[in-house]
Amino acid sequence: MLRPDDAPVHTHPHPHTHPHGTPPSDDAGETVTIEQKVLAKNDLLAERNRTWMSGRGVVAVNMMSSPGAGKTTLLERTIGDLDGRRPVAVVEGDQETGLDADRIRRTGCAVVQVNTGAGCHLDAEMMRDALTALSPAEDSLLMVENVGNLVCPALFDLGERAKVVIISVTEGTDKPLKYPYMFAAADLILINKADLLPYVDFDVEQCARHARSVNPDVRVLTVSATTGENMAQWYDWLTEQR
Ligand code: MG
Repeated sequence: MLRPDDAPVHTHPHPHTHPHGTPPSDDAGETVTIEQKVLAKNDLLAERNRTWMSGRGVVAVNMMSSPGAGKTTLLERTIGDLDGRRPVAVVEGDQETGLDADRIRRTGCAVVQVNTGAGCHLDAEMMRDALTALSPAEDSLLMVENVGNLVCPALFDLGERAKVVIISVTEGTDKPLKYPYMFAAADLILINKADLLPYVDFDVEQCARHARSVNPDVRVLTVSATTGENMAQWYDWLTEQR
């Protein structure tokens, strides 16, 4: 089974270096060393985040998807439906703007926006700073909306309890095959926008099959954050993460 650690180590122009997909160059040896250090430092910070959160009963869930899969809408619905039954705080990751944090704030939920600039993912240091800013309550749920892409966020442990990958029915069912590291890292896959199934050519079973070809035991739920369809199963899963 593919794991993020199996990802090939490369780099391309970025504000920082990390595993990616460009051909090796003359300085490849040096690049690999730097990238291994970047990931090792991240893993150390992630482990500290994990220890800090588990000491307080805080359960963090790292939500990852392509842009536009419905992460923010899913969070808005989730916060509304949980309706104070459990404290929730949110970390919003985007390259720019505070638009998603504004949406979450309107639900009354504590939220911090992290802008990554040219960066394409959240990392454990950003997560640590977000934890400091939010100071999440004991036994709370910390929903982390990562930057929308199916590549880089898979490689960076934030110290979360679980990774959730969201794919919407307006995407191709072959996404798990094209982005296997992301789907292999998932503890749960949500197929979102189920309300649009009558209007699009998306085979739910085929998508689930593709996902299980890279992650045999992964749980797959089909939901609609717009209509609420099957969202109860998602809430049950969140409760199980306690
Ligand atoms: Mg969003």
